[in-house]
Amino acid sequence: MNCLYCSHNQTNVVNSRKPKTFNHIWRRRSCAQCKQLFTTKEAPDLSQVRVIKRSGKQEHFSYYKLLRSIDKALAAATLQGDEIDMLGQNIVAHISVTPKSTIYSSQLHKVVAESLRNYDKKAALRFDSF
Ligand SMILES: [Zn+2]
Repeated sequence: MNCLYCSHNQTNVVNSRKPKTFNHIWRRRSCAQCKQLFTTKEAPDLSQVRVIKRSGKQEHFSYYKLLRSIDKALAAATLQGDEIDMLGQNIVAHISVTPKSTIYSSQLHKVVAESLRNYDKKAALRFDSF
């Protein structure tokens, strides 16, 4: 991990935090050279996960697309960007896929609808209509 400020190649982890419900880790790092502090987030890379659509077509899982559909479903709800990100991470944690696995879009849809239902019933209904 290179320093985000001076690109020095040695940084030290000064603190890390693993939230109970999400499978990502926050690390507080300090640069060995310029001593700047910054935070990195480590999350499973799901870009190799393939989503099998209803038509049988496959596409790569897109976290960005997932966030966009959550955002759309929440519509009027006032959620900050990082709260949507938390919700997204929570959903990803529930998909429990390995980097090389495939998931049916209907399965994915179910997990998202379920998570939204716990959060906002109207948003879940809106999502179901997508
Ligand atoms: Zn530095």
